[in-house]
Amino acid sequence: MSDLSSYIIPLKSIISYTTKYDYELGEPFFLHFVSSEGDIQGGAIVASVLVKKLTHSFELSIELKGFVSVMCDRCLDMMDIDIETESSLIVKFGDEYNDVDDKLIIIPEKEGIINIAWYLYECLVLSIPIQHIHPKGKCNKEMEQKLQTYSTDRIEKPNEDRDSRWDVLKDFKQ
Ligand SMILES: [Zn+2]
Repeated sequence: MSDLSSYIIPLKSIISYTTKYDYELGEPFFLHFVSSEGDIQGGAIVASVLVKKLTHSFELSIELKGFVSVMCDRCLDMMDIDIETESSLIVKFGDEYNDVDDKLIIIPEKEGIINIAWYLYECLVLSIPIQHIHPKGKCNKEMEQKLQTYSTDRIEKPNEDRDSRWDVLKDFKQ
């Protein structure tokens, strides 16, 4: 498994006003986050990060395009979701690391670097719909039949319980 060091941007040593970093996010990238929240199991994403050096901060404009693979909430098979999203982030130097909010990060000035792997991942997570279900008729047929033998109302209820699929799994074990 590759490490995430290629996602380090050495802000402190950036001299030019704008610098662009390009990444291709594939299986090795997603493997790092497989156990984190967000359900993304894989994908292929072209990411570009444009770093603008401002007077007292850096503005990072992130563009992500491609697809991610997630589990269908209904049949638990994998499905691909198209992604085309943009996001921005302000990074400032300070005494210690502080994830102020979605849009502002303070990083220790003496280190002067940011690893943006996590932010790229988070952007992807935020851009996938809360509920992801195959288009009608495209779910795993076998699972679809099993589901029909159970009361489906908790699965059909939109957004009430994001992890309703675990209840489904529990039922299958019995
Ligand atoms: Zn499905």
